[in-house]
Amino acid sequence: MPRPITISFTSLFITTLFISTFSLPQELFALDFSSKLRTDKQSLMSVASDFGNLTESIPATVFYPSSPHDIAAVISFSYTNSAPLFISPRGHGHSINGQTSCPDGMVIHMESLGQDRTDRINVSVANRYVDVGGEQLWIDVLNAARRHGLGVNSWTDYLYLTVGGTLSVGGISGQTFQHGPQISNVLELDVITGTGEQVTCSKTRNRDLFNAVLGGLGQFGIITRARIPLSPAPEKVKWVRLMYTDIVTFTRDQERLISVDENEWLSGFLNYLEGSLLLEQGLIDSWRSSSFFSKNDTERIVQLTAKHRLTALYYLEVVVGYDEDIATEVDQELDLLLDDLSFVPGFAFAQEVTYVEFLDRVHDGEVKLQEAGQWQVPHPWLNLFVPKSRILDFDAGVLKGILGKDKAMGPILIYPMNKNKWDSEMSAMIPDEEVFYAIGILRSATRDKLEKMVDQNKKILEFCTIEGIAFKQYMPHYRTKEGWMKHFGSKWDKFVELKMKYDPKGILAPGLKIYTSLL
Ligand code: FAD
Repeated sequence: MPRPITISFTSLFITTLFISTFSLPQELFALDFSSKLRTDKQSLMSVASDFGNLTESIPATVFYPSSPHDIAAVISFSYTNSAPLFISPRGHGHSINGQTSCPDGMVIHMESLGQDRTDRINVSVANRYVDVGGEQLWIDVLNAARRHGLGVNSWTDYLYLTVGGTLSVGGISGQTFQHGPQISNVLELDVITGTGEQVTCSKTRNRDLFNAVLGGLGQFGIITRARIPLSPAPEKVKWVRLMYTDIVTFTRDQERLISVDENEWLSGFLNYLEGSLLLEQGLIDSWRSSSFFSKNDTERIVQLTAKHRLTALYYLEVVVGYDEDIATEVDQELDLLLDDLSFVPGFAFAQEVTYVEFLDRVHDGEVKLQEAGQWQVPHPWLNLFVPKSRILDFDAGVLKGILGKDKAMGPILIYPMNKNKWDSEMSAMIPDEEVFYAIGILRSATRDKLEKMVDQNKKILEFCTIEGIAFKQYMPHYRTKEGWMKHFGSKWDKFVELKMKYDPKGILAPGLKIYTSLL
């Protein structure tokens, strides 16, 4: 085994380089697929980091498959070779903490599966589902389904992520309270396991693999196809933001709105619910809310904050879909709904946009940041699930406490979801409480602020632990066996059993260090 050389550029930037004399098994280059392997610097560097821009780890080779068969062939090769080669699927590379990294090994460039092909997204209008390649982006699923007036039930806020990448973590957004995460909305998968076997699985066929892979962090197999149910999609949406000056009223209204049992009509009416924290003018026009508030709205919001001598405001965000023929009716129902909520009077803001414009909203912000050269900066993001019973403690200790004024470096999301919309058989982990909040602290860092932000993230996790807040990390990353055991809790033994069954040599997705923590 080659020895990694770890070079520390700063105390935070740990770059792992590997001795250049490391050689891949020579038999690899004699196989049918060898022309799809690249070891040139440009290919290696293109997968060395991810959206987080916090780590850099250079693989030995990058594989550009043109079919699932190619992927099965490289994994079979690795599995039967005396010294297995680590293999990591990389979707769109939008992880934060090096989850797709594969020091010593092979990164599979999943998106090349769909290159120059039009047959990787197939909508069945009659059966109301789409068969989609694991490498496809959600934006392309949206465009394909929309041509038939259809859409999936559960999206992510940002659609330039691959289907395989989000199904490996969960896939959450403002539809999760109602339809569950994306992993609760899958009918069938084609998976290539860590032994190179191609398996079709669902709730009724190879059920253990299906449940393991969904939310399974790429540990059990590579998703090459997912069958996802479709429903009629509206033409347009009414998109509303409501301002709150205190967390108690804000969370009370959010929890009422997601309490589908109590408000049965709401469950079919609202298509989306999220919430965010607003600190100051810069954030009001952040990449997540680009172009929503007019200049005048922004001034009023800033004045409201000053008037109440607050460090932060909260806004609740809901969306209702409609077609033109029922627009008036929807307006009336929306008015009734708003009458019943306790936001600051006069501080409701609404827009009407197409369904596609709404779903693709984050991309506008991305384009602006790309143009300004501010998209490829470090992103020390922290995503947590916090039980409803402790959300006020979290607000006091973390949002108002640890983060203080440093919130302004990016959006902070706070929105609730229902546990009963998640499938406890799947690998994804959530808190053990009926309602819990998704918290996304999505900050961008300049180099001089990075260290402080990473330190604050550490303090947040310590605070939750000390205060006994039974949180779960969303898109977790731990470095020790204890960390992973604590994360998976009572599911740990099952997780290990299935890892041993489907990836017994620990070939897949080593960047998370789950298998190595077992040894
Ligand atoms: P990658 O980062 O390439 O891979 C992620 C993990 O999945 C890795 O462990 C990888 O090995 C594994 N993997 C990739 N492809 C496959 C496959 N085909 N089969 C098996 N395993 C695979 N998440 C949400 O839930 N909701 C959001 O609204 C949301 N918004 C985001 C916005 C931005 C700007 C960013 C950067 C991230 C966002 N995320 C969101 C997080 C995102 O869902 C995850 O980071 C996701 O894993 C990224 O998908 P990707 O295609 O980039 O995967």
